[in-house]
Amino acid sequence: MTTNKPNQVLLRQDVLVGADLAAWLSRGGGEGLAQALRDPGAVMAQVEQADLRGMGGAGFPTHRKWSPVAAAPDGDKYVICNGNEDEPGTFKDRFLLEHTPHQVIEGALIAAVATRANHVVLYVNPHEARALAAMREAVSQWQQHAQLKAIEALLGRPLSLVVVPSSGLYIGGEETAVIATVEGGFPFPRRKPPFPAQSGVHGAPTIVNNTETLAHLPGILRHGADWYRGLGLGGAAGTKLYSLSGDVLRPGLYELPMGTSLQELVFEHGGGMLQGKEFKAVFTGGPSNTLLTRADLDVPLDFDSVRQRRSRLGTGAMIVVSEGTSIVRKVAEYVSFFAQGSCGQCPPCKGGTFQLARVLNRIDTGRGVQSDLVSLANLCQLLPGSGRCGLIDGAVTVVESSLHHFHHEYEALLMG
Ligand code: SF4
Repeated sequence: MTTNKPNQVLLRQDVLVGADLAAWLSRGGGEGLAQALRDPGAVMAQVEQADLRGMGGAGFPTHRKWSPVAAAPDGDKYVICNGNEDEPGTFKDRFLLEHTPHQVIEGALIAAVATRANHVVLYVNPHEARALAAMREAVSQWQQHAQLKAIEALLGRPLSLVVVPSSGLYIGGEETAVIATVEGGFPFPRRKPPFPAQSGVHGAPTIVNNTETLAHLPGILRHGADWYRGLGLGGAAGTKLYSLSGDVLRPGLYELPMGTSLQELVFEHGGGMLQGKEFKAVFTGGPSNTLLTRADLDVPLDFDSVRQRRSRLGTGAMIVVSEGTSIVRKVAEYVSFFAQGSCGQCPPCKGGTFQLARVLNRIDTGRGVQSDLVSLANLCQLLPGSGRCGLIDGAVTVVESSLHHFHHEYEALLMG
């Protein structure tokens, strides 16, 4: 489902052409890449002026992620499009990969031009069979396209453009796990530094960008940074995909100006709450961030504004919870998901997430006692920072946040 906002870019009906390259090119596709090829040295500045951020979670400025790779001497360099997307409530990347794969590939090729990368890897979750098929077909069409030859002429060496299926595991979307998979290994995250820009695939400088981030690039290069910035609200730049789900009348994928308020997303575009119930909270940016509550309905949904409310916009997933839904049950489900998803390299993560899930499930099923709340609080103190990646911190964050805002719900479920 999409809205009909006039400033839609990624989800415009006329660009949702699937793997048909001729159709994509007839709608202005390829013009962004052509612009990048005309003036490769200007791409980085355009992306900086556009204030393009990483749409996969952190909102890190894209040009800053690229800069060290661009500055590295010529040799093997990688651009990886991360399309693993396996978190509850997030379904934007699979839509782009399936319905507008050329927009994603063109964006990845623009990133390669800007950084002089000679390897472009499209990393796709194999559970999304239609997305995987669309990307494979789209790549086969690009192999015949003159612009690929033009990039090779610019680089002075061959360019490889390949699809690599991910492991399909949640942890396989973590940046260093992506690199491990592309190298042919198990998706074990590793500690940073070194950061991928310094040492990524087989030690080569590597960029791992989210699918949505890359999909914005053709428009930025084609229409300019000012155009892109002007699409946002209140000083935020561009548009954002929001995966809206949970207790709303019209769940779906919405492309809206960056900075649209939570109130507008839920009540205007999402149609408000199911069965006329009261809004209670939203799991923002997926299930691993601080909850936003009724007091936050006015927050503009952009990276900086949401961070000021001590949460994160993350992927743009918005899982809405009404007064009729148990927060404790939701948190128990999500922490169980994280426990299952832990790769097991770090004992505090494997043991800690299972322990959190066990206590949460005990409380949720009416078997909890007061000391379980103490156990949760203690685990939330002990566990952060004890893993090689952020999985355990995310699990703790959502538990802490729910205890802070909805302690009364936990208390009400305790025995006695
Ligand atoms: Fe694996 Fe958890 Fe350690 Fe991350 S924190 S590397 S998921 S065990």
